[in-house]
Amino acid sequence: MNRPAIVLVHQRVSLPWIFDAADRAGIGVVLVPRPDEALPGELPGAVTEVLRLDLSDPAAALERLRSRHRERPFDGIATLYDPAVPFVAEAAEALGLPGIGASAARAAQDKRLMRERFAAAGMNVPRFARLDGPDAAPDPTAPDLTELRFPVVVKPAHGFSSIGVVRVDAPEDLPAAVEAVRAVCRAKIPGAVDLVVEEYLDGPEYAVESLAYRGRVEVLTIGYKGQPKGPYFEETVYRAPAPLPSGAAAAIEREVAAAHAALGIAEGPAHTELRLQGDRPYLLELGARVGGSGVSHCIAYGATGADLAADALRIAVGREPEAPECRKPAAGAAANYIVPCGGAGRIRAVRGLERVRALPETDHVVQMLHPGDVVKPYPDFSGYPAFVISTHPDTAAAERYHRLLDDLISVEYEVEDEAEYKVEYGAEDEAEHEPEATS
Ligand code: ADP
Repeated sequence: MNRPAIVLVHQRVSLPWIFDAADRAGIGVVLVPRPDEALPGELPGAVTEVLRLDLSDPAAALERLRSRHRERPFDGIATLYDPAVPFVAEAAEALGLPGIGASAARAAQDKRLMRERFAAAGMNVPRFARLDGPDAAPDPTAPDLTELRFPVVVKPAHGFSSIGVVRVDAPEDLPAAVEAVRAVCRAKIPGAVDLVVEEYLDGPEYAVESLAYRGRVEVLTIGYKGQPKGPYFEETVYRAPAPLPSGAAAAIEREVAAAHAALGIAEGPAHTELRLQGDRPYLLELGARVGGSGVSHCIAYGATGADLAADALRIAVGREPEAPECRKPAAGAAANYIVPCGGAGRIRAVRGLERVRALPETDHVVQMLHPGDVVKPYPDFSGYPAFVISTHPDTAAAERYHRLLDDLISVEYEVEDEAEYKVEYGAEDEAEHEPEATS
């Protein structure tokens, strides 16, 4: 049998997990590189070809794919990059390849549509209001806004990686917050003009890794994500499986399955984030992809033995996922530690990573910011200095290991004066690396 080929859109080659998974699944990768990543001389072994596509012109990109498909048909198309999910679904639909469908993908990538579909399906949804278009001002007398209980969260409808997500405590602060979010969007998320304002959910946060096949959703792991309180939502930890109040796991599983049904997603991986209010889960979002550029695979694999990334690729080329009884024995618990920026300025050093690499629990240390890189203060977002993926016999051991990392890792800045790096909103941002999603 010929090796199936998959077009993999905008995956960084510096993050190896999905390429390793392609090897395990026996699938060749046609890589559509990220425009902001210089490709190394040696590409991952699974990559058979590099195909450059400019997704800022989706029609032309689709034409290019169509002609490549005519010349040498490929078997599927996938992405782990959230903004590319709708393009990938549309391309799959247009070329007759497996996919979640363009309508489901658009809803999964637009927090307004997602909220509306969840509400229509009777799911738990925080009260929210839409601010559509670049000029929509928050009118505090508009019925949908007056119904909101403060604090609220303002965020771009098409955002990712918490970019431009801000908590606002009082109605009088809302107009300025909306302006600040718009400014971040102009600089960081081209075309993101629509916003959502929704009630702040003051509970612990969890992430769910799941895999759907032929309409059946299997929840692989529910992991703890801390309880960030804002006003800006820096990621901190991810540890799975999470200790949960009784009844919460079943409620989360039901809500994640309901979200798939509400969006119309019958196949493929999903990374869902939610907060608990008591034992009631409120979904923040469902991403129709393997989360965190592949981190989600490491979490699911370490905690359960499920080969999430390989199964995602198999499904995307029309093959069956591995049967659960064939899964490898798992470590028990898996974790991701996101090194906090802990300040702003030009980085002098990220200390402690070598010692962390040498710890037996450590599986991967990925450094994303280096000496000389500039971290801008919130609400801007320059990415995280590094993240550390590990496996443990249980979640309590993962928590102890994270405390140790708190002590071992530090980021040192040349200039501690944050004002020096304040963004000039409205001006074009200087060319920079787009921050990498870690969840
Ligand atoms: P993104 O897609 O940019 O990651 P999210 O909607 O997932 O946007 O928000 C990012 C983070 O902001 C969440 O992980 C959560 O910590 C926080 N957050 C967003 N909305 C709310 C809310 N309504 N209540 C509490 N926290 C929120």
